[in-house]
Amino acid sequence: MASLLGMDENDLRETLGTKVPAYRAKQFYDALYRQRVSNLEEVAALPLELRSGHQLGSLEAAETYTSSDGTTRYLLRLPEDGRTVETVLMPDPNRSTLCISSQVGCPVDCQFCLTAKMGLERNLTAGEIVGQVLYVCNKHGLDPRSQHVNIVMMGMGEPLLNLKNVLKATKIICDDRGVGFSPKRMTVSTAGIIPKIEELGQAKVRPKLAISLNASTEEQRVAIMPITRKYHLADLIKVCKEFPLKPREHITFEYVLLGGVNDTDADARRVTRLLGNIRAKVNLIALNPGPGIPFEMPTEERVASFHAIVMEKIPCFVRKPRGRDIYAACGQLKKMAAEEFVHIH
Ligand code: SAH
Repeated sequence: MASLLGMDENDLRETLGTKVPAYRAKQFYDALYRQRVSNLEEVAALPLELRSGHQLGSLEAAETYTSSDGTTRYLLRLPEDGRTVETVLMPDPNRSTLCISSQVGCPVDCQFCLTAKMGLERNLTAGEIVGQVLYVCNKHGLDPRSQHVNIVMMGMGEPLLNLKNVLKATKIICDDRGVGFSPKRMTVSTAGIIPKIEELGQAKVRPKLAISLNASTEEQRVAIMPITRKYHLADLIKVCKEFPLKPREHITFEYVLLGGVNDTDADARRVTRLLGNIRAKVNLIALNPGPGIPFEMPTEERVASFHAIVMEKIPCFVRKPRGRDIYAACGQLKKMAAEEFVHIH
């Protein structure tokens, strides 16, 4: 039996069949996404016979890890096959950030990322992407309609290699009659799948775009992100220049600083030049270390100097690492269980 989560109104109408009046599909949609029920039995508006016989497809926590900084990392179980996926909530009094996954594992082979070591297990369905948002909002009593929550698709996986499901989930998450997030508070991050960036630009409802740049030359990027052999740096920059931005919208460029590899002043100046004609923001991330990751963290001096150089031309922020102690930080999501944690501070 197909799970209901992830279905839009048309899908629901089809599933309910022609014997059920069309407005029932609207009521199901409202119950699933606006009321965020975890059980259809709760839905008083539905006749009893429609409340049973459906599988919702909600996600449940297999494990929960809480960091000393308040970050919570969930391993959520996917009801379809029992695999787990990572979802991270970084609470903040002004603006909490919810980091969700798009795939189980990842097929992109970035040399500094732990998720890459898993390889790709499978794509998430639209329902499994929406399900992560519903789970965390319900668990933490977060109101998606408030201005205080951001969603970033920066968890496990390469979202643009699962673009169809990502966009379907986005439509439901950002539908005012659905979950009700504003697309302005949602960001999708990519390693640089050029044709899919173009496709994303054409979508009617889409999250904001972030690019994992991570290098200042083609040669350097090939070495740490081998996908650059297929999608060259110059072409990536070109597609960003042509990306249809809304008024006041920016593209965020993430840059993982790897000590002694891509963190020199010359790198910073090259990044500034590369992004010269793009409405850009730069997010610097000091490497989060992990077992088997053959790179060092940058020194504080390098981070400060890199930041200062880029900042002269482009708004630039240093991303605060969150949840490193529980392997919840960028590039650390690998279904790691507590007994595997090694001391990394
Ligand atoms: N595949 C997408 C979504 C993952 S986002 C993408 O590549 O953008 C994860 C972000 O964390 C990326 O910007 C990536 O460059 C960064 N990252 C990966 N491994 C990291 C590590 N070990 N330390 C710090 N940042 C890392």
